[in-house]
Amino acid sequence: MFNNILLAVDGSEHALNAAKVAAGMARDLKSEVLRIVIVVDPVPSFLGEPNFQNAINARMKEAHAIQDAALEAVGEIPGEIHIEILEGSPAEVILTVADTRKNDLIVMGSRGLGRLAGALLGSQSQKVVRHAACPVLIVR
Ligand code: ATP
Ligand code: MG
Repeated sequence: MFNNILLAVDGSEHALNAAKVAAGMARDLKSEVLRIVIVVDPVPSFLGEPNFQNAINARMKEAHAIQDAALEAVGEIPGEIHIEILEGSPAEVILTVADTRKNDLIVMGSRGLGRLAGALLGSQSQKVVRHAACPVLIVR
């Protein structure tokens, strides 16, 4: 049970809390894989060069900073850590990865970097909870 965990991170504090919980579960349950998913905004192709390449570089730099923070929060785990940086709409990408990689648990934050105060759950976690085929653990 929970041998192949998907952790979604966007650099927010809630997502880092989710990373700590996911890593704790991976340690306790000796999960084989912890897959960290980071979704970046698509770069519009009409930008033209050099703007297109510059925008991609900026996205990747941001994603690598998110990755480093997540890896630090995760720490040492017995299983493998896989990292996927993908572009698209976060919830759709998370659901597609979970499906393709046959994850048996999705762990994510209740909120992310969005500024909409007051909402209990962000739009991406709401979408994932609504459509995921596997259990979803939402961390505050
Ligand atoms: P909203 O985006 O609706 O304005 P929000 O940013 O507060 O609100 P969500 O985006 O739903 O809330 O974030 C909830 C959780 O979803 C995050 O803690 C993170 O685990 C995951 N998540 C959100 N965006 C991404 C992303 N781009 N890549 C990976 N995971 C993400
Ligand atoms: Mg968000």
